[in-house]
Amino acid sequence: MISQTLRERLGDLTEKEVLWDSPLAPYTSFGIGGPAGALIKVESIAELQRLICFVSDNDLPWRFIGRGSNLLVGDSGFEGVVLLFGKKMSGVKLLERSVTGGIRVRVAAGCSLTRLLNWCVEHDYEGLEFAAGIPGSIGGAALMNAGAFGGDMAGVIEAMEVLSLAKGAERLMRKQLDFGYRCWSNQGVGEEKRIITSVDLILRRGEKTVLRSRCQANTAKRKKSQPKMEKNAGSFFKNPKGDSAGRLIEASGLKGTRCGGAMVSEVHANFLVNTGAATAEDVYRLMKMVTDKVEKDSGIRLSPEVHFL
Ligand SMILES: Cc1cc2nc3c(=O)[nH]c(=O)nc-3n(C[C@H](O)[C@H](O)[C@H](O)COP(=O)(O)OP(=O)(O)OC[C@H]3O[C@@H](n4cnc5c(N)ncnc54)[C@H](O)[C@@H]3O)c2cc1C
Repeated sequence: MISQTLRERLGDLTEKEVLWDSPLAPYTSFGIGGPAGALIKVESIAELQRLICFVSDNDLPWRFIGRGSNLLVGDSGFEGVVLLFGKKMSGVKLLERSVTGGIRVRVAAGCSLTRLLNWCVEHDYEGLEFAAGIPGSIGGAALMNAGAFGGDMAGVIEAMEVLSLAKGAERLMRKQLDFGYRCWSNQGVGEEKRIITSVDLILRRGEKTVLRSRCQANTAKRKKSQPKMEKNAGSFFKNPKGDSAGRLIEASGLKGTRCGGAMVSEVHANFLVNTGAATAEDVYRLMKMVTDKVEKDSGIRLSPEVHFL
């Protein structure tokens, strides 16, 4: 519980109104999750810095989220402070255009991947078409090293600006960034845990019609192979080395398996979907059921790609 005194002081630190006891379900693509004690849309790096200092000084639990497209929030929610970027933290800025046609672009972490991709196509910049159809923010995409169709964020990131309680603002170059399969592994923990505030990308000069048709082709492939109707968080499990989680789940005969309102998608077995009124508990139980059955049948223990709050 956030005391009344802390509520008043917290309210003084923010540009936008704090949303108290705010349901988190609308902030996730799963559409699942209880309330956050406080939900704050952060509009500047200075505000973010003030807030993380305040929550830490007052021992309030806190968590930063993006657009919630890779997130399962528990049914009882989160008693502390949930931070996410607001509109002013979503700008795109061209940094440099080289004679060879390459460009450097700085993207504020709250920008959606879709908006950035549209901007790239509009300006004839190539390199991000793999991301067509991936929801989420640039910050979340960098943290997850989001990828598809042979491309990923690590392949286009040149540098990132980050903020942590222990080290303040830092600029990390690509060689300092340890990206792995669906993760950025040197984010840090505790007071050193870094929030990504902006990402610099290196792109190439492309041709609008080619870029557009590449994006359309990627989106069409998604439409064919992924559930359209039910809410979900994308691929639920990471692919084990040399295999695919979807193949293993399907081979275990689990397509269509349900736990309450959660179901293994009939379209793509690696998608756990919310059929309408699923709780986080339903998804969690289904996750466990899938993990155990696949391990029993194949000897492979799947680990979730989805993050938990
Ligand atoms: C229909 C669908 C299809 C998808 N397809 C793909 C796909 O093809 N490939 C793929 O890789 N993913 C896919 N995803 C998953 C998801 O879209 C990506 O992982 C996305 O990049 C997550 O971004 P987000 O802003 O939603 O992050 P969130 O889900 O909000 O957060 C994910 C994690 O990142 C952390 N985080 C978020 N922003 C920041 C920040 N600025 N600084 C530090 N930490 C941060 C959060 O704390 C959390 O731990 C799909 C999801 C859906 C719903």
